[in-house]
Amino acid sequence: EKYVYNFNEGNKEMKALLGGKGANLAEMTTMGICVPYGFTVTTEACTRFYKEDQKLWDDLNNEVSEHIKGLEKENGKTFGSTDDPLLVSVRSGAPISMPGMMDTILNLGLNDDAVLGLAKKTENERFAYDSYRRFIQMFADVAMELDKNNFEKLLSAKKKDRNVENDTDLNADDLKELVEEYKAKYKELKGEDFPQDPREQLDLAISAVFKSWGNERAILYRKLNDIDDAMGTAVNVQTMVFGNMGDTSGTGVAFSRNPATGENKLFGEYLINAQGEDVVAGVRTPQEIATLKDAMPEVYQEFAYTAKKLEEHYKDMQDMEFTIQEGKLFLLQTRNGKRTAHAAVKAAVDMVDEGLIDKKEAVLRVNPKDLDGLLHPTFTDEAKKSNEAVAKGLAASPGAAVGKIAFTAKDAAIRATDGEQVILVREETSPEDLEGMVKANGILTARGGMTSHAAVVARGMGKCCVSGASEVHVDEDEGTMRIGDKVYTKDDTISLNGSTGEVYIGSLETKSPQLEGNFGKFMEWVDEFRDMKIRTNADTPRDVEQALEFGAEGIGLCRTEHMFFKEDRIFQVRKMILANDLETRKSALDKILPMQEDDFYQIYTLMGDKPVTVRLLDPPLHEFLPRGEAEIKDLALDLNIEPARVRERIAELEEVNPMLGFRGLRLGVRYPEISRMQARAIMQAAIHCHEDGIEVVPEIMIPLSSDVKELKYVIDEVNDEIQKVFEEKGKEIKYLVGTMIEIPRAAITADEIAEITDFFSFGTNDLTQMTFGLSRDDAGKFLPLYLEKDLFAKDPFQVLDQKGVGFLVETAVEKGRSANKDLHLGICGEHGGEPSTVKYLYNVGLDYASCSPFRVPIAKLAAAQAAI
Ligand code: PEP
Ligand code: MG
Repeated sequence: EKYVYNFNEGNKEMKALLGGKGANLAEMTTMGICVPYGFTVTTEACTRFYKEDQKLWDDLNNEVSEHIKGLEKENGKTFGSTDDPLLVSVRSGAPISMPGMMDTILNLGLNDDAVLGLAKKTENERFAYDSYRRFIQMFADVAMELDKNNFEKLLSAKKKDRNVENDTDLNADDLKELVEEYKAKYKELKGEDFPQDPREQLDLAISAVFKSWGNERAILYRKLNDIDDAMGTAVNVQTMVFGNMGDTSGTGVAFSRNPATGENKLFGEYLINAQGEDVVAGVRTPQEIATLKDAMPEVYQEFAYTAKKLEEHYKDMQDMEFTIQEGKLFLLQTRNGKRTAHAAVKAAVDMVDEGLIDKKEAVLRVNPKDLDGLLHPTFTDEAKKSNEAVAKGLAASPGAAVGKIAFTAKDAAIRATDGEQVILVREETSPEDLEGMVKANGILTARGGMTSHAAVVARGMGKCCVSGASEVHVDEDEGTMRIGDKVYTKDDTISLNGSTGEVYIGSLETKSPQLEGNFGKFMEWVDEFRDMKIRTNADTPRDVEQALEFGAEGIGLCRTEHMFFKEDRIFQVRKMILANDLETRKSALDKILPMQEDDFYQIYTLMGDKPVTVRLLDPPLHEFLPRGEAEIKDLALDLNIEPARVRERIAELEEVNPMLGFRGLRLGVRYPEISRMQARAIMQAAIHCHEDGIEVVPEIMIPLSSDVKELKYVIDEVNDEIQKVFEEKGKEIKYLVGTMIEIPRAAITADEIAEITDFFSFGTNDLTQMTFGLSRDDAGKFLPLYLEKDLFAKDPFQVLDQKGVGFLVETAVEKGRSANKDLHLGICGEHGGEPSTVKYLYNVGLDYASCSPFRVPIAKLAAAQAAI
């Protein structure tokens, strides 16, 4: 079995085996791009490593040795040589990129002999010992998990002792001493000598990379990003090139286009005379890539050319790492660049215009989930005008975020879980901060560039982030943030503008997103490929307008009870509920009727000829009743009854298990006059629209049916009332009556139900609740535990459970259509805006999905991708 591949043996299609980095290093090698030569230990080796109790085995060791020999030959250098030693980097590379999760070791191969060889070969003793001490520290930290602070302290002490400020001010002798101190510290902490045999160093490093696949941060990242734990990581062993060999050397990271805006222009940063980790760690402030044009014109030209070439080859935006060693450019990595949704859309549209990809490819390029980032609010112009930024950092990830300061990821996570709006404010972030970053509204860091951990991770999450705001001074221990002479604490609220990098004190007003040209064009292409309709769940004119702006093609769910809650009418609703006799109830309903009619009229008018499904009253009646004594008294007074009687009625309506109680069409069975009032309001509004020239076809939806007879009872009432309206108005219009499939029994008896209905809409919130027997309202208290313990892969209230709930949906679709071939099918549960569910339901054969206004574009894109 083969576990090790040279860079010239692989290609970009071999990601599963060689990992993303390894596959792309191989691809670049074959393309003739200058890549330091090396080899990749496969992900299969990682999988086997875990089967072998986390040990490397003989055959693998032999294979690695063979490849080391090959590297030595290729480079004319030898491991451990006192003349010209071979040094390598060891880096992880999973099939899917996992930024910041895994670990890198540079300068491996250095030992007491090789350091002499390196000094001799480079004629630079200082450089050699500096490399050695960096290697010891990195090896100790990454491979041996010894706290790097132990070594940082020694370095600081040495600088203090020599009375110098910068690392670079230490001379060769200082560094030689430091190497001895580092080795002694290593021995003290580890209880054994620092390994001198390069081959042993390599084995330990390979094991460390494999082990890092199983560390907590990696596991959490995979969980958050739906990455399979079984995949494993590859290990890349690559000949070292040095960016720290003086002023004609350097290292950097760059994107072929701007990953924040999508602008077609090289974007990135580099450091002269530095090694890779200096850029990522944000220790020194890097320079913009554009300035390389002046510093090293030829290298810049070559890099720009290589970036274009890679982009044309991969047909996608590239994220590259490079090193310049004494004026010579080497590529260390390329991959498709992570980008904001904004940049993703712009780049996809531009690339179609440039002829690099076609429309279909463009539509597939953008992850529906990421669109979320585009649809988020920004600060109003007024808010921006009337507030002055107190600091400015880099516009690392766009959007607007407001919240109270949290200084640690843990604090952010705890407070956000308690419902507080928080902004995570850190000197810089590290992978340990992930959970806090997920929970915070936004992220502010004092240090670090556009490619720092905070920036990369926030962009990936579509979360607002301002990084490298150098005026911000964070003292985590004291719990303070200082800007100028002002000090802020966890009780202060700040606002971040991730699109400009500005930081404000206080809470700025935000506004809904404005979708500009590229987005419109992109969504047009999405619509070209899509055949499933996307509607929205909306019950106020404001929501309807927002949804229309986002391209909703109808309303799949108008929850009429939301209209009942409005302040001016809740009183009448309460009277209606508390009425003792039919007459009183009817008189209250008569007052509600014109209000509902007007609501529907407004919505119909806004929607024009687009379909609108109005659902009859759903929740248990006690939800509408007052709790406070004052309100109870008011109500009693108006009804001319004793407050005690009101309290009695409230108690009567109280249910032990309201979710399974007196709600949905059961209300209509008990109080048909409520359904009748609503049916009348719908039809009167619709006829009014017809008179205005808008040919509305009302869709009346009856919630929570479980049996054809109960449903028929309510439908008959509704139809009868509608006939009355027709007679009164002297006009008949077409309308549809359907039901929600929310109870397993309705799905199972869907053939019977379909015979008396025009459409089904799957209420997957309730259907999930009732299939799992899991309360929607209470599951939040223990469901996270299920996810933590890996008992559920996903929260079934967010991502549809295809096996169980999906089975019921499929059953209902099949049975329903067999009984009524014209049956129209949709979904209006929360899952209707979740991309993987939309794709699934498209394949099940639903006609439409309905979701919240903000998720309409997401659902549209998911539906288009499913159709392609
Ligand atoms: C559902 O149950 O999926 C649904 C859309 O109805 P509601 O959320 O209003 O219960
Ligand atoms: Mg429901």
